[in-house]
Amino acid sequence: MTESLLCYILVMSTPENTPRVAVTAEDFRQALTEVQEKIAAAAQRAGRDAREVRLLPVSKTVPEERIRAAHAAGIEQFGENKVQEAQDKAAAMADLGIHWAIIGPLQSNKTREVAEFAHEFQALDRIRIARRLDTQLKEYNRTLDVYVQVNVSGEETKSGLEPGEVEEFLEQLVGFSALNVKGLMTMALHTNDEAVIRQNFSALRSLRDELLDRRPELIGEGGLSMGMTNDYEIAIEEGATVVRVGTAIFGERDYSK
Ligand SMILES: *Cc1c(COP(=O)(O)O)cnc(C)c1O
Repeated sequence: MTESLLCYILVMSTPENTPRVAVTAEDFRQALTEVQEKIAAAAQRAGRDAREVRLLPVSKTVPEERIRAAHAAGIEQFGENKVQEAQDKAAAMADLGIHWAIIGPLQSNKTREVAEFAHEFQALDRIRIARRLDTQLKEYNRTLDVYVQVNVSGEETKSGLEPGEVEEFLEQLVGFSALNVKGLMTMALHTNDEAVIRQNFSALRSLRDELLDRRPELIGEGGLSMGMTNDYEIAIEEGATVVRVGTAIFGERDYSK
């Protein structure tokens, strides 16, 4: 089947409102433009400079050919939530010089892989993991940008520290010189209630502001990684400096493989 025919079938079979699956570099250029316009509009509504917001495209489940097409459209950083999948992709696309961000929770038996190839880890919430990463990174003469994950929604199932635990955790990270603390990361409650989502994001910003004020030495540049396809515009209005966007760029994920 030719690529254009495949594309046609995907488009025709996609219900309205679900982002269509991006396949070609041209698809990715279009999707990127749309997302960047929304980022710019959200930043403007909040009186912010859109250049303060970094777009991290999330490529979990997306196969190599489509990541290569996305790269050809100018995407140079990708977020992945599974270490094995990310490592396989990094090896297969070593020629592209991609910046790989691990955005999902990490088991301690996977820290070595992350230390070896990843550039960023956004879901740090355990000292044991931080210690292993620090030791292993030093073996490879590498460093890793990290965001500390915070559970602001109070959902039992969500990973991340309680807001009240963050300061002490950051104090412990000071000793790990291979970890560059960039800021805080969160996921809002999975809900359609915009007020609740907004309140989750503003809680993370308040925590960041308070730490920047009292303990600026602990929190790096005080970045805020928050917002996904369904809520990144709200996140930007509430101060996000990194938005992690999958579906709006790549289209619906196919978990069947
Ligand atoms: C999958 C994922 C995203 C992106 O989700 P979309 O809704 O597809 O934008 C963002 N952050 C994390 C931690 C994820 O696992």
